Amino acid sequence: MKILVINSGSSSIKYKLFDMPKERVISKGIIEHIGEKGSEVKDHYFGLKIILSKIDSVSAVGHRVVHGAEAFHKPVLINNAVISKIRRCCNIAPLHNPANLAGILACKKLLPGTKQIAVFDTAFHQSIPDYAYIYGLPFEYYRRFGIRRYGFHGTSHEYVANEAARLLKKPLKKLKIITCHLGNGCSIAAVYHGKSVDTSMGFTPLEGLIMGTRCGDIDPALVTYIMRKKKLSAQEIYDVLNKASGLKGISGLSNDMRMLEAKASLGHSRARLAIRIFTYRIRKYIGAYIAVMNGCDAVVFTAGIGEHQEKIRKAVCENLFDYLKNKPRVLVIPTDEELMIARSAFRLI
Ligand code: ADP
Repeated sequence: MKILVINSGSSSIKYKLFDMPKERVISKGIIEHIGEKGSEVKDHYFGLKIILSKIDSVSAVGHRVVHGAEAFHKPVLINNAVISKIRRCCNIAPLHNPANLAGILACKKLLPGTKQIAVFDTAFHQSIPDYAYIYGLPFEYYRRFGIRRYGFHGTSHEYVANEAARLLKKPLKKLKIITCHLGNGCSIAAVYHGKSVDTSMGFTPLEGLIMGTRCGDIDPALVTYIMRKKKLSAQEIYDVLNKASGLKGISGLSNDMRMLEAKASLGHSRARLAIRIFTYRIRKYIGAYIAVMNGCDAVVFTAGIGEHQEKIRKAVCENLFDYLKNKPRVLVIPTDEELMIARSAFRLI
């Protein structure tokens, strides 16, 4: 059975065609510059048309959808009711869900009658208990506006936690795992007996770890303080926290960890500081999640930095587990969100 996995962003569509259940990748690619000035690809419909012209048959389509809010805690078969719910989530994920939806609607038109499945970045974290997802804000905000921790990268955390159990040859249901997804966006999750019980990203992907350009945890009072000091609008401060902070903001150099490592080894003090802050924050979270789960069997590193940058992993883990009687295994597991989506789609249909 051929399953097409679609990751539809605001100006690009990434795709991978899988032969399931063999889990073999038949083809993959990316259509870029969708809707941009001078581009031949006017919208997602045209983008998808190009993709479909490159492949001969599709039995089902699996879509990555960023935000499922509280409406979705597992992958679902897409119908009109599901589309309306995804549309309602656009409110709290204005940068991502509209693009994901555009991909779904384009598929609906171009492949009528072909089953489509939505897999949500937030779904794996729907098992987080209320005491970990409710913020210390007026409770009414949760009820009226859905303000709470949702968490992201769920498909990746779930995938690597499953792989860790396979590598350790133990049932996932008996393991306490901390998964560190360290790419441009970074998040960490506590996976207790196969279920996410806490994660560092929150209502949006801005909370938690230091990331390429995102600040992660800060004192919330800084938002209004900086707005006043620098005379920034709400959108401008939002952009500073999302696009000009994190590794890039601290180092003044780049959001790319490879470049920071190179500069740090040449003695660049702010590159060193950025790396130190980055690894220190991860250590704090790992410590917290060991407390949350009352122990830990494995710490998993994944995504660009997690998979490829040994020095960072070493800096995070150095002497971190000394006080533990049962030391966790440290694993490096390449993430594969597309395969996870293909598996979910295959299972569902
Ligand atoms: P995204 O979150 O955009 O998918 P990635 O998972 O590719 O990003 O992670 C990007 C980060 O990982 C960058 O900081 C980059 O320096 C680092 N990185 C990616 N690939 C490698 C590699 N092969 N070797 C070292 N570092 C890498």
